[in-house]
Amino acid sequence: MPALRNTASPQHGCATCYNTAMPSYVIAGAQVYHRGRFQLLEVRTDGPFISSVAPSVDRTGAIVIDAVGLHLFPGVIDTHVHFREPGRTHKEDLESGSRAAVAGGVTSYLEMPNTEPSATTQALIDQKLALAAQKSHANYGFFIGATPDNVKDLASAKRVCGIKIFMGSSTGNLLVDDPVALDRIFAGTPKDRVIAVHAECEALVRENTARLKGRTDFEVHSEVRNAEVAYRATKQAYELSQKHDHRLHVLHCSTARETEFFKPGHGIEHKRVTAEICPHYLLLNVRDYARLGTHVKMNPPIKTEADNRGLWQALHEGVIDCIATDHAPHTLEEKRQDIWKAPSGIPLIENSLALMLDCAARGLCSYEEIAHWMCEAPARVYRLKRKGFIEPNMDADLTLVETMEKREVRNEKQYTKVKWSPWHGQILQGWTKMTFVRGQKVFEHGKVNEAFKGHEIEYA
Ligand SMILES: [Zn+2]
Repeated sequence: MPALRNTASPQHGCATCYNTAMPSYVIAGAQVYHRGRFQLLEVRTDGPFISSVAPSVDRTGAIVIDAVGLHLFPGVIDTHVHFREPGRTHKEDLESGSRAAVAGGVTSYLEMPNTEPSATTQALIDQKLALAAQKSHANYGFFIGATPDNVKDLASAKRVCGIKIFMGSSTGNLLVDDPVALDRIFAGTPKDRVIAVHAECEALVRENTARLKGRTDFEVHSEVRNAEVAYRATKQAYELSQKHDHRLHVLHCSTARETEFFKPGHGIEHKRVTAEICPHYLLLNVRDYARLGTHVKMNPPIKTEADNRGLWQALHEGVIDCIATDHAPHTLEEKRQDIWKAPSGIPLIENSLALMLDCAARGLCSYEEIAHWMCEAPARVYRLKRKGFIEPNMDADLTLVETMEKREVRNEKQYTKVKWSPWHGQILQGWTKMTFVRGQKVFEHGKVNEAFKGHEIEYA
């Protein structure tokens, strides 16, 4: 075997070296999501951008990818993840989380501030951005976390996708439940900066906890944080956004009832209030505790079958705008505690697209709707520059999918550091074959190309 002596090629994994030699690709033969529908088109990328989308594109100097029979989605954008770095990196870190992301077709993510320390100042945001620049395989953006007394930091923050408020407590110690402090945040921050809320009423959670603390069944978690808990907080957030004409995004809607505050339609740019859902609120309900126990404990909790139906309808009607995962990994050891002590949250980022593609295969939604909910709409909700669409001059973030492939979700095959999934053992139809991040093929046939790094997301 010859020794590694080729001096013409980079000997180290420096992203810059690879960027100077970025290939051009032509993806040919796929059904491409373009202007609202899947069509037989070719897509050419040059460097980090899409350069042409047409029935037939120039192939000069490009690597041609035969994608006959496949579907090409804009790269999936997951606007709600917890990658646990810094501070809780035994659960996940920016490298492992972003590895799971690209394996699941996710090319960009927005990460939440309840790390350790919580990301509540510009300095802590800058620290996360620097870490991600070194470690992340996908494009990245970060929320700044609200506390009762950091309005100045929230107002002046740069290079952030939005402000996150935990109106109800969850993992970490970020909590703003005092109405005066909440009003101060809505009054004192730029009106168009997205305030993203975890809407659960903390006072009612405490009341319910006191009342129900003798119970040991799993379902009690969904009664402590019941529909009324979500409704009260969503109502409060909605009223604050109306009072201050402030942009608001309600995270992880779990009940049909709280959607009464949102308007139907896909004109996201004209909405002051937008809303998100996660696949588990569509696909799981309290009956699943019997099978999955604390493995489906999250905040807000799964609710009823009627909520599943109501939330599907809200999503179809554009009352709920987008899908994100709330990827929130904890180890199996941590989950192996009673319902009160087990931490809340599930790993999901690498299976969210497959779960939704499987829904499409079962006739619950269309592939076009998935592209809207998981690619276009997230880019529009957070005004991400050059993301979410397959158009010339957009970033070449692309996800090539095989909609016919059936594969079983297996714990041991997961890329997330915690190596488990609530969907372990389930066969899903529709999987990512190839993922491009800014024109670089970062994932192909089960392998992540570690040399490639994502870029910081920019906001319009
Ligand atoms: Zn979350």
